[in-house]
Amino acid sequence: MFIMSEDSQRTQGRDAQSSNIMAGKAVAESVRTTLGPRGMDKMLVDSGGEVVITNDGATILNEMDIEHPAAQMIVEVAESQEEEVGDGTTTAGVVAGNLLGEAEDLIEQDVHATTIVEGYHEAAQIALEAIDEQVQEAEVDDEILKQVAESSMTGKGTGGLTAESLAETVVEAVRHVDSEDGVARDNVAVHTQIGASSNATELVPGIVLDEEPAHDEMPSEVENASIAVLDVELEVQTGEIDAEYAIDSIDQLNAAIDAEEGELQGYAETIAESGADVVFTTDGVDDRVSSALASEGVLLFDDLTSSDAKDVVSATGARRVGALDDLEESDFGEADLIRTENFGDDDLAFIEGGAAAEAVTVFVRGGTEHVVDELERAIGDALDVVATALESGEVVPGAGATEIAIADKVRQEAAGIEGRKQLAVTAFADALDIVPRTLAANTGQDPIDALVDLRAAHESEGRAGLITDGEDVTIDDPFEYGVVDPADVKREAVESATEAATMIVRIDDVIAAE
Ligand code: ADP
Ligand code: MG
Repeated sequence: MFIMSEDSQRTQGRDAQSSNIMAGKAVAESVRTTLGPRGMDKMLVDSGGEVVITNDGATILNEMDIEHPAAQMIVEVAESQEEEVGDGTTTAGVVAGNLLGEAEDLIEQDVHATTIVEGYHEAAQIALEAIDEQVQEAEVDDEILKQVAESSMTGKGTGGLTAESLAETVVEAVRHVDSEDGVARDNVAVHTQIGASSNATELVPGIVLDEEPAHDEMPSEVENASIAVLDVELEVQTGEIDAEYAIDSIDQLNAAIDAEEGELQGYAETIAESGADVVFTTDGVDDRVSSALASEGVLLFDDLTSSDAKDVVSATGARRVGALDDLEESDFGEADLIRTENFGDDDLAFIEGGAAAEAVTVFVRGGTEHVVDELERAIGDALDVVATALESGEVVPGAGATEIAIADKVRQEAAGIEGRKQLAVTAFADALDIVPRTLAANTGQDPIDALVDLRAAHESEGRAGLITDGEDVTIDDPFEYGVVDPADVKREAVESATEAATMIVRIDDVIAAE
């Protein structure tokens, strides 16, 4: 009896398990070489020839257009890691892949999938306790936040700019949006602009819009601006001079033109008299209105996108007005400074010190599109980790030290676990070794030697990471080198990798519709 369409494909039992595990491992493997400060970049080219050069795990996996359903679950690990904490995507993906690799060995030794799943979950609990034990005691201050930012950016193509000065900008930005209610991460925007060296990257105390003044002769700068935001068309209402009604004398034509001029003049006067000195409108503006406003010293932006209008409103506290007759001073927003600047083909408007919002913008500069794009990703990660570290107040040692400590604790506790589950718990510890091993391999060290040395140093001295410091690679306490990661990044990596790996291991039947 057939209960499925004849076209559907079904794989069952061990075959299903091993094909899923293989696919998952392959995906994890593909990002392994990008891990850590000496991680390499990947160049991804899509079918349209678009090129992305990146070191960011989540971006790589996203761009890879992965179809296999189990492999897709590893991509989701990276995605959820990115969403929840903003960093540690490569780590989570690589750990998930290695958990699958270890599970494969256990399945070959006839350990049942449910035993593996139970063992992994138990080990993950121990891992979370181990992370708690690694949390740095010192209070998370600006110095530590800068270290967090810098650690997340090392290895990213930050152009000519040192991670140190970028880290400072990032911490300043996050401090700006920090309040008793927590860190309003969404209030930090990143705006990229090609054309200068990455050294020109700076923090703008406000928002940046892709908008240009409606007229060349408008002021390029207005201090203490009173701002009106309109959804009003400042053009001649259609039909007046068209063939809608016949014009059969010069007098009539002149009258029509006068009427038109009068109407436009009226718009300009209403605005100028309202007292607004900067005006944004989401609709079109006739050149004659712009020109009249320019001579009144009013700065006007027309055809504003709806999202820019929202941003202006939330930055300045203006109220959007739908009809010119309704415009009143109480609708105005305020900002310390509105300025416009031309960058080659692009004009930008900067709204600084808006009355209503705390929003700030990291204005990212770089020589080429690829440089600014990767810089934008690096800064995005750094903003996320600094926000995460500031909110939870917890950081742990990086450079593989936390993973070494987790593996050690899990192995110790495994000894007290009965039956075959013990094998799964131990396998979990082995899987975590992938992080220090990969950091070693990516710095040209022998992974096995490095692992042995790291374990010995952990045993005798406590914290031990494989620190890359300029050209040197040393085994030492990462805290002393400022190599720190937010505890939540490690927690999330353990949890999401475990979840994906156990989900894949449990599948023994794949039914695919054609
Ligand atoms: P992920 O996507 O997992 O964040 P990264 O390529 O950003 O991957 O690498 C992060 C790892 O690099 C973390 O384990 C972090 O502790 C480590 N790391 C950062 N800076 C250094 C350093 N100077 N030396 C050694 N490891 C470092
Ligand atoms: Mg990172």
